[in-house]
Amino acid sequence: MTALQSDDAATITVRNPATGAVSGTVPIDDAATVAAKAAQLVAAQPEWEALGPAGRKRWLLSWQDWILDNAKRITEVLISETGKSYVDASLEPIATGDAIAYWANHAAAFLADRHPKAHSPLYRVKRFTTAYRPYPLVGVITPWNFPFAMPGLDVPPALAAGAAVLLKPSEVTPLSAVEFVRGWSEIGAPPVLDLATGYGETGQAVIEHADFLQFTGSTATGRKVAVACAQRLIPYGLELGGKDPAIVLADADLDRAANGIAWGGLFNSGQVCVSVERVYVEAPVYEAFVAKLATRVGQLRQGRDGDTGAMATEAQRDLVSRHVQEATAAGARLVTGGRPTGVGTHFAPTVLVDVDQSMSCVTEETFGPTLPVIKVADADEAVRLANNSPYGLSATVWTADAHRGEQVARRLEVGAVNVNDVLVNVFCPGLPMGGWKQSGIGYRAGGAAGLIKYCRQQGITAPRLSGQKSELLWYPASRRRMAITLAVIRALSARGRRRFGLRPRNG
Ligand code: NDP
Repeated sequence: MTALQSDDAATITVRNPATGAVSGTVPIDDAATVAAKAAQLVAAQPEWEALGPAGRKRWLLSWQDWILDNAKRITEVLISETGKSYVDASLEPIATGDAIAYWANHAAAFLADRHPKAHSPLYRVKRFTTAYRPYPLVGVITPWNFPFAMPGLDVPPALAAGAAVLLKPSEVTPLSAVEFVRGWSEIGAPPVLDLATGYGETGQAVIEHADFLQFTGSTATGRKVAVACAQRLIPYGLELGGKDPAIVLADADLDRAANGIAWGGLFNSGQVCVSVERVYVEAPVYEAFVAKLATRVGQLRQGRDGDTGAMATEAQRDLVSRHVQEATAAGARLVTGGRPTGVGTHFAPTVLVDVDQSMSCVTEETFGPTLPVIKVADADEAVRLANNSPYGLSATVWTADAHRGEQVARRLEVGAVNVNDVLVNVFCPGLPMGGWKQSGIGYRAGGAAGLIKYCRQQGITAPRLSGQKSELLWYPASRRRMAITLAVIRALSARGRRRFGLRPRNG
């Protein structure tokens, strides 16, 4: 990456991509350092688990306090390594605090033993329990687009579940993760959260020691991570790339649709896994929608104190340029933006129209401030084109009829759909967030499931009665007792005459 340079073999120097200024340095942790950190975390984890959800809640809420108290400083650190606008960066610590409170406050209920009912009267003499025990060490690997909020999505539920966590942030933006972990140690919490900084090799070393691995990043790296986890036979969750469609139906409120799609596509300079990356508009409202979108996007101000900031890396800015150039060369029309501004890694917010489904700005993830717009005949064509993608992260549908919006949502092959809104599902941990197809494996959040994923489940049976010396099927083997047992199972589970070992009359 050109936005940063290594001073030497042991250090990463981090720069602000908007200005080129040096923002800080972090060490490159080698395999031995990662192993030592993992061993310390594993040693501290049993005591953390033994605190139970109520004991852990106390520490988690103190950590939330620390983050809120330091939110302004964290925002500055975020800006210093990403070039984000102030408004975009300021969301991260507060959203993280909100997520911490959710997991801290719900962990006791989410992790409580379940007592499923016996499925058959034969087993009513037993008490059943499903218990949840955390994986001792969860590895969390995060990308550069939300250097504080991305750990904030995945680390708090793992800690709330009772696991220890080793966090590996992106080489491009490690400084915010330093703050994330600093908060945990400054409040004096048990040493169950640590940081491993470095490049891909450091991430690989984290996988070597994790009992569960949660990865967020590109589909290409996610595939490598899955292979590494498979080699170790450890479970994993992958949150990968996306190419989220927006579908604007002819009855939509076009002002709201244009405003929402502008924000959903350009927030964080479009460097959002669930940003709007392609827009399908029904023909009768195409011209009117494009006019409103162009006006809204054309008014945006760029820069630290503007509406949108810089791209996190030069490579990312150049990828966006390529997509725009390839689209215009293939016949798309630029209505606003379309080029780097010449200042740092800023790229002007861009609307492309007369786009077709074959262009790279539609087939590949752009991860930048572009909104390619495609005219469609009707909702069926929009759904067909929206589903014609290897990705399946999320989507939006815009319509005056919320019920119809939900019906369209259910036809989309994606893990989340916002009707008449954008990104909102990400901030609601009661909902599952996960990619279908090449956009991921597994889900984050989703209420109780968001904690249980970080646990090993244990099924326990215990007798309700005491004093029996033997059971029907125990030795010595007996044909008669087996026959009685099988007859009872058949009678309780089969249908019609088969319950009694008979064939149906017309069978
Ligand atoms: P990358 O896949 O390049 O990197 C993600 C993380 O993996 C980084 O910390 C990286 O370290 C690390 N890494 C790289 N190679 C390996 C390896 N072999 N083993 C283990 N870890 C490794 O993603 P980006 O940072 O470029 O992030 C952008 C991508 O993330 C986009 O595709 C975006 O869609 C996706 N994303 C998905 C989200 C979701 O929730 N579905 C949310 C946000 C982003 P290093 O940087 O040091 O190389």
